[in-house]
Amino acid sequence: MKESNVKIVCEDCGKEAPIDHKKSTENWIAYKDKCECGGKTVPKMI
Ligand SMILES: [Zn+2]
Repeated sequence: MKESNVKIVCEDCGKEAPIDHKKSTENWIAYKDKCECGGKTVPKMI
């Protein structure tokens, strides 16, 4: 499978979403749906 060119970033500050270590697995990285600034994190094509 091809690596997707999607990045999870904050809608407000544009920072990459923090990794949710509780939900992440060895093969899959889960990102939190809220940035540390309180903004919503959304998928963005890069
Ligand atoms: Zn933010």
